[in-house]
Amino acid sequence: MAQGGCHCGAVSFEVEAEIEYLYACHCSLCRRWSGTQGVVVAVVPNAAFGWVTGEDQVHTWSHPDCDWHSAFCPSCGSALPGRNDENTMFIPAGSLSRGAEKARICDHIWVGSKASWDEIGGDGKQHDEAYEA
Ligand SMILES: [Zn+2]
Ligand SMILES: [Zn+2]
Repeated sequence: MAQGGCHCGAVSFEVEAEIEYLYACHCSLCRRWSGTQGVVVAVVPNAAFGWVTGEDQVHTWSHPDCDWHSAFCPSCGSALPGRNDENTMFIPAGSLSRGAEKARICDHIWVGSKASWDEIGGDGKQHDEAYEA
């Protein structure tokens, strides 16, 4: 079981499983969302994810030109889980308060468009663009 939520406590959520795999996205859209080098997220099946409090307060924003969505708390600005595709949710790793103790970044994506000051460490696989299995 993993749990997380936002700074102000309005929104909280649970995931049925422990988080093991994380993906780091270095694209310009994720950079602007986070204000840092990108985002680190877990991807979980919809069925394993549940909002505990504040689902109706989660704000989402969809990029007008591409398939990119962000989710955040309108009160405190914390990044929150959102729709990854039809079957899965993305969960920003920093929004988790427990259940990700053993997680590691296994893949870095959009490395080809990372910021010049972004130095990637660790042994996660690096992909120039999107993840390809
Ligand atoms: Zn909040
Ligand atoms: Zn990205």
